[in-house]
Amino acid sequence: MKGTSASPGIGLGRVLIIQNEELNIIKKQIESLEKEKERFLEAIQKSKIELSKIRDKAMKELGEDKAAIFDAHLLVLEDPELLDGTIKKIDADKVNVEYAFKEIANQFVSIFEAMDNEYMRERAADIKDVSNRLLRNLLGIKVIDLSLLEEESILVSNDLTPSETATMDKEKVLGFLTNIGGRTSHTAIMARSLEIPAVVGLKNITELLKDGDYVAFNGETGEVLINPRDEEIASYKKLKEQYEKEKKELEALRGEISETIDGRKVELAGNIGTPHDIEGLIKNDAEGVGLYRTEFIYMDRDSLPSEEEQFKAYKTVLESLEKKPVVIRTLDIGGDKELSYLKFDKEMNPFLGYRAIRLCLDKKEIFKTQLRALLRASVYGNLKIMFPMISSLEELLESKKILEEVKSNLQAEGLEYSNKIEVGIMIEVPSAAIISDMLAKHVDFFSIGTNDLIQYTTAVDRMNEKIHHLYNPFNPAVLRLIKMVIDNGHKEGIWVGMCGEMAGDKKIIPILLGLGLDEFSMSPISILPARKLIKSLKFEEMKEFTDKVMAMDNATEIEAFIEKSFE
Ligand code: PEP
Ligand code: MG
Repeated sequence: MKGTSASPGIGLGRVLIIQNEELNIIKKQIESLEKEKERFLEAIQKSKIELSKIRDKAMKELGEDKAAIFDAHLLVLEDPELLDGTIKKIDADKVNVEYAFKEIANQFVSIFEAMDNEYMRERAADIKDVSNRLLRNLLGIKVIDLSLLEEESILVSNDLTPSETATMDKEKVLGFLTNIGGRTSHTAIMARSLEIPAVVGLKNITELLKDGDYVAFNGETGEVLINPRDEEIASYKKLKEQYEKEKKELEALRGEISETIDGRKVELAGNIGTPHDIEGLIKNDAEGVGLYRTEFIYMDRDSLPSEEEQFKAYKTVLESLEKKPVVIRTLDIGGDKELSYLKFDKEMNPFLGYRAIRLCLDKKEIFKTQLRALLRASVYGNLKIMFPMISSLEELLESKKILEEVKSNLQAEGLEYSNKIEVGIMIEVPSAAIISDMLAKHVDFFSIGTNDLIQYTTAVDRMNEKIHHLYNPFNPAVLRLIKMVIDNGHKEGIWVGMCGEMAGDKKIIPILLGLGLDEFSMSPISILPARKLIKSLKFEEMKEFTDKVMAMDNATEIEAFIEKSFE
């Protein structure tokens, strides 16, 4: 099979299917209530056995702290109000146990979630977790704990949630294969930050494979072999060795300057989603952070993160990067990223809807809390603030006005912030690219977000596998907009970076270099290969090469021309 390459590396191993779709619980009228109660007791027993096993394993491998989480989960399964409440509901409403239990558990979750106390809100998450386990056991769906996998496996699923990728045991996961997603979907971005090989957009791979099947795949080409022959396995093993050897060799480039043969220096920065990604930045010798996607702080939880919580996360990143530049993007929720606790109306076109800066300018309290946390953290490093999805000058001016307001409030309260913070915007909407000459007069930098710029310019949904062939970074319209943004930025004397996935693509780097891009921000795993490439090029030659590319009118020809030129 062939899917979309999401994260480099070779995956070889046994399959573990992860069924993580939302559980669909239907209400049924029941005659034999005793049978329902029996099923309930059996499922509780089964869940307890599972949890005790996990707790013992956690105790051995992760320590007492982590094991305590599962003790708390076991206690939920003994809570008389939850258990008796369910039994009473079965009797009173004559309904199936799944429905009765879900209703009662939801009531508890809502009560805890509404509490003003962080500890109590965490209990809501425990109850949710345990009730999911219990419901799966009632429905006969296998429960897999990704943080405590027994054996090394290749995870195969429809998609993976950010919490699954965040908690999984990296030592045991040999790769991901998913039905949905493209190179810029969040599972793909996560796979690269975890440095786990992955192929996404395989359409129906979950139906074609079963637990225990053997697969071999190449995260760079998107090729997946199902139950391969011995000689195929041998050739993939060779590829794996070669990949690992090359990765080792690249380490020699740590500490070197990213500079062409004729002395054009650029900055190679990393994209991150959480402070956990700092390890990858350091390992891959990032020269800064070009994009910190702060929405991950807001995801996988039950309420908005407090100012203090955000402050701590931003401070950690700024301190770890010492004095290197750190571009932190304000909240970019909406599109494919939802927050369960902020319920908005269903939209026909979420990527064209209530998203990013539009939401922040509407819900100003959320925006101001984040800006306060950012400003307070600014004294701990070299912070640059970036607004996402700006599509007009008015939006930029209003965002800057709110930032100034928050600064004066802090000042009035006697709280410190740095007076050297650069403010920039993402250029990811075509209207912003087209008026980039005007926008450049009001910011300190631009960062081109090609993941969205491509989808908006060419009207191709970045998540839709059916039209993935049309999502093409070599489209001359996209290249022209990029050139325009870089030229307009430079005319006003500001630096121009790129934090979309194009910035780390070896085929495109020579053109971006030729166009004069100043900063390239990418998944940390791509940094050393990019440095190696840049050190082998001449800036003057790349300018001439880029002129030729810009005169071409066909994306396929452009791609072929680049491939041929750098064979
Ligand atoms: C982009 O759109 O290019 C970008 C970097 O932002 P995100 O992928 O988070 O939308
Ligand atoms: Mg974007």
